[in-house]
Amino acid sequence: MNSDFLRRPLTTTEKLNFKEIPAWVTQAVVFLRENQKMVYLVGGAVRDLIWGSTPSDWDLATDALPDEIEKIFPKTLPTGKRFGTITIFSAGQPIQITTIREDFPYSDGRRPDQVLFGSDIVKDLARRDFTINAMAYDFETQALIDPFNGRADCYRRLLKAVGNPRDRFREDGLRMFRFYRFLASHSLAAERKTEGAINPEWAKFVSYERIRDEFSKLLLGASIRKGLAGLAKSGLLLELIPEFYSADKAQSRLYSYLREHSFSAAAAIQRLLPLRLAALLHDIAKPASLTITKTGPHFYGHERAGAEMSRVILERLRYPKKLIQKVSLLINGHMFFYQPNISDSAVRRLISNIGPENIPDLLELRRADIIATGKINPKTLEHWKDLSQRVLAVLRSKSESKNGSKLAINGADLIEKLGVKPGPLMGEILSYLNEQIIEEPDLNQENRLLEITRQYLDSKNLRD
Ligand code: ATP
Ligand code: MG
Repeated sequence: MNSDFLRRPLTTTEKLNFKEIPAWVTQAVVFLRENQKMVYLVGGAVRDLIWGSTPSDWDLATDALPDEIEKIFPKTLPTGKRFGTITIFSAGQPIQITTIREDFPYSDGRRPDQVLFGSDIVKDLARRDFTINAMAYDFETQALIDPFNGRADCYRRLLKAVGNPRDRFREDGLRMFRFYRFLASHSLAAERKTEGAINPEWAKFVSYERIRDEFSKLLLGASIRKGLAGLAKSGLLLELIPEFYSADKAQSRLYSYLREHSFSAAAAIQRLLPLRLAALLHDIAKPASLTITKTGPHFYGHERAGAEMSRVILERLRYPKKLIQKVSLLINGHMFFYQPNISDSAVRRLISNIGPENIPDLLELRRADIIATGKINPKTLEHWKDLSQRVLAVLRSKSESKNGSKLAINGADLIEKLGVKPGPLMGEILSYLNEQIIEEPDLNQENRLLEITRQYLDSKNLRD
């Protein structure tokens, strides 16, 4: 298809926005042009520049073949060479350069059966997911190639599939998740026909790794609620995290409350992935932990069970081990007990049990949990503030500072100075000493701890 008739000049404002393209990107463009290659800016960067926002990454499309790209640029990585993508480095910054593609059909809902490289930018744009992502900027003529009216949709803030949405979602089920990810991160409205075409059946063919990346971006979006509500409404959430649902009709209200509360907590918490995941999953075991006693319904142990369940969920979604560890630790600790007027030593004990490094995140999780309960009791928030202030004051104070929270002596000191043998007794002594300094931080000095240990051993008749 001849793309000339689709070339549209930029408006004055857009021209100013496109001046923001960094010199290291235009340098790469110059290299390709010097080699008589076509080159376009494509994908999210064009969309972001039209909006006047800063693109997160820069994608170029060219008619140079992957091998040629590798020859033109001194420093490259074959990140997706089979599909035509080479990452190059310009002034140390990465740029993805992809050979213009005119794909053959997909038959497995995952990947095109065969990649056909070519030079028709309009065909390349036609295989992209949404109209706002399907524009190209031609550096040579400084014009926009916009065969699907992406620019108009940008200004209308409308998220609409390129072509027939049913075909596009069936072709690659990931696009359904991307749909809600863009809704969540760019304050867009869903085009009716596009949203209506979503069918969770097609999610089954998509790998969890690919879904995970889109899901994380959705969770970090400013309109996370819109994204999560969309996943739930469309049935995609049931595919992704079936733990949010029950086959038992009698329990449907309980689960619907769980989803509502979890979405609210995730929206209320700070925008950091471990926190957003912890907030989303913190009560996931509540329905399963429900017991009815004389005093009413209880959810005993739901935090421990929830930590376990979230581990299973996050492993299934292929999140990295360290992140899973962090999230389940936060969920396990999210019910930490607090009553106003507890003693300073009780506050210190709380800190020691939870681990000082986890305190700020747990306070943040608790805050989100309180806000998400809807009918906020002002007293509850007061308690939260009171607890935060007291805990943070203790953390800041010298005795609980980084070194202060650790015992001033260790196992080696006990062996060397008191002749204690390595073994269970050693652990017993160290926990005893820990208890003592929680009660009285001033005791945390070598001499005093050695003295306490002597007394402890004497009291047990264990001294040599
Ligand atoms: P972001 O700014 O968040 O990176 P983006 O639009 O650049 O958003 P990417 O995931 O980086 O999104 O993808 C780059 C471009 O590749 C998209 O703009 C779109 O044109 C195209 N694209 C990515 N994934 C798909 C897909 N599954 N199907 C069709 N086109 C896609
Ligand atoms: Mg991108």
